[in-house]
Amino acid sequence: MDLFDYADELDYGELHFKVNPETGLHAIVAIHDLTLGPAIGGCRFIEYDTTDDAIRDAMRLGRGMTYKAAITNLPHGGAKSVLARPKNLDAHQRVEIIDEFGEFVDSLDGDYITAEDSGTSVEDMNRIGEKTDYVLGRGPDKGGSGDPSPHTATGVRRGLEAAVKFDLGRDDLDGLTVAIQGVGAVGYHLAKQLHERGVNLVVTDVDQSSVDRCVEEFGAESVEPDEIYGVDCDIFAPCALGAILNDGTIPELKCDIVAGSANNQLAESRHDAQLMERGITYAPDYLVNAAGLIYVASFYSGEGSEAAAERIDGIYDTMLEILQRADAENKPTGHVTNQIAEERIQAARD
Ligand code: NAD
Repeated sequence: MDLFDYADELDYGELHFKVNPETGLHAIVAIHDLTLGPAIGGCRFIEYDTTDDAIRDAMRLGRGMTYKAAITNLPHGGAKSVLARPKNLDAHQRVEIIDEFGEFVDSLDGDYITAEDSGTSVEDMNRIGEKTDYVLGRGPDKGGSGDPSPHTATGVRRGLEAAVKFDLGRDDLDGLTVAIQGVGAVGYHLAKQLHERGVNLVVTDVDQSSVDRCVEEFGAESVEPDEIYGVDCDIFAPCALGAILNDGTIPELKCDIVAGSANNQLAESRHDAQLMERGITYAPDYLVNAAGLIYVASFYSGEGSEAAAERIDGIYDTMLEILQRADAENKPTGHVTNQIAEERIQAARD
């Protein structure tokens, strides 16, 4: 990979590196854009095959955060950090790396605000919070916002309701059938909210106890994980894995709408066009699942829970705007979402 070519391609931005051979710290902070405000984005602490893979991951995800913040009208730019996890990492070394990362974040003077992501936890955010104020998602006992997943579920429901309004012309969900893939933290709360609104649920999960909970509490029907794509339903809600909208699964779908919390649902960007060709309304994931981010960012800025709830509710209007514009311009919804985010950033630059 030519680093600068890739940076040009993604319209970067800043790249910050910090290494320490003694502790094994290999840290990257990729700040994509600061136009709308300090850049916000999680910290991944996972193993990578190569340094190129780690840098690419940080850069790709950092750019995604710029779009996510812009489409939800948050006063933030986008960034992502990566801690390349050393092989055979022990607990002591882990703590050293997290502490050094906290100092690294602090040295960027607030241009980057970190948060939890794959391989990091609330406890890590608490620790980082001892080194810097530029951290989201600390535990409530450390003055943080706590678990965002119930809020994420509310945002998914609002995005889904907008798609129902657009596609089915309905203001309520009563009697509709929603198939949920993955009833973990977000999927469970979504199931609860939908059940309260009269929705018939079909659920699947690789964890049987999560399925049982929804069957018992909400009278959900359950199917095997590989059967969820073919469920005859109004809405398919992917709340587990990325890349599940692909050449193999799209022909199987028997739904009018796809709206769920999972990140990066489209295996490739062209798959939103494939959904459009099949007449399926795709509610773009990075708007649908943005409420967790909205909640922790609003908490961080001291805006308060009322303002956060208002912003989360705004997912409905933005989703409707996207669906209407995509329809008018005959373009896939993912494409139009990116366009609107880019227009907002450009307007701020101008
Ligand atoms: P989670 O781990 O609590 O839940 C995911 C569930 O999916 C688990 O119960 C898991 O057993 C299940 N699962 C895994 N593989 C599966 C498969 N092949 N088929 C069916 N089920 C499977 O995670 P979560 O916090 O609920 O997040 C769910 C998705 O939403 C993830 O993609 C996450 O990145 C995204 N997301 C979450 C939040 C949040 O606030 N938690 C915010 C934005 C995006």
